[in-house]
Amino acid sequence: MSVKKCIYCLKTEPQVTFNKAEHILIQSFGKFENNIVLNRGVYGVCDSCNQFFGNTIDRVLARDTFEGIIRFKENITESKKYKSEGQRSLLRIKGVEGFFEGSLVYPRYDEENDEVRMFLLPDQIGIKRIDNGKYDFFSIEELPDIKDIPKTYYDENGKVEFFYDFYDESIMTKIKEKGYRIERDYPIQELDLFDSKNILFEFERKIDDTIGRAVSKIAFNYLCYDLGVNYVCSETFNNIRNFIYKAEGNVEDFVQIEDMKLLKIEKELNISLLGHLVGYEFVGDKIYGVISLFNTIKYRVLLCNKFGTLPSTSSKGHFFDTKNMLTKEISKKDSREIPKMFNLYL
Ligand SMILES: [Zn+2]
Repeated sequence: MSVKKCIYCLKTEPQVTFNKAEHILIQSFGKFENNIVLNRGVYGVCDSCNQFFGNTIDRVLARDTFEGIIRFKENITESKKYKSEGQRSLLRIKGVEGFFEGSLVYPRYDEENDEVRMFLLPDQIGIKRIDNGKYDFFSIEELPDIKDIPKTYYDENGKVEFFYDFYDESIMTKIKEKGYRIERDYPIQELDLFDSKNILFEFERKIDDTIGRAVSKIAFNYLCYDLGVNYVCSETFNNIRNFIYKAEGNVEDFVQIEDMKLLKIEKELNISLLGHLVGYEFVGDKIYGVISLFNTIKYRVLLCNKFGTLPSTSSKGHFFDTKNMLTKEISKKDSREIPKMFNLYL
């Protein structure tokens, strides 16, 4: 039987328990039929570390990232379960085309349509231009005083049309202080999340320590799953362990980002690449983890600088098929069959 030791706090049974299964890839990104986990055969993450990560870094990865929003688009998670990080959110979403062009928006569960949709941020206000019928968006602070507002906003009746989505008295007060008199509310316009026919959104999310640690944990869990607890408990891995567990060090020293544009490749190979990839590779004397959720952003995680014993494989991965909800090991055989895919990821 595998040794019951936690690869993060380095405690062993009975000091800590190993009752809960630790999902290599957190379940928010899919409940797979043949999912790969720790503590069922191969141990590795104690119950208290499991809970600690779940309440902190895992939560942010699931809620406050581009990939976290795609979960709802791909029906991995029911829309009504959508939860935002609220004021703590570091996700910045900007309208690029269509009605919301130039505005800042946020995702919210829309009960009426049972969907997660984009809504204008409460501190944003749109003013309709008379020349082209489009709205220019301002934050409440940037909103010009009524006396400074250009003629391009006035209609033939000398009125200005606003678009906003808030019910906050303090914001209304600020608008009134700038000399505006609100005559009536306009209906809120709702547009489909990611519906490119209507609108295009741009996502910006700083890969901070929290996201970096969450992604690194997936990679490090996977290395443990494949090479065993003893292997990853060696002090060779102390830097990545302490980064994940204690937030020691800087994210830039561990995590690199590459954008993936895989749609074209999917067509060329005629295979579905809808899903996640988790893997690792040995390059020179370094070990890197490779993570991609929904085949969007590719994260490369430096797991160790100098490894000791050379394992027999030099790279390995698992594909999490979110269409059929199955996991599949990417073996050497697959790498010959679909070399492009393998090379791209690992
Ligand atoms: Zn632990």
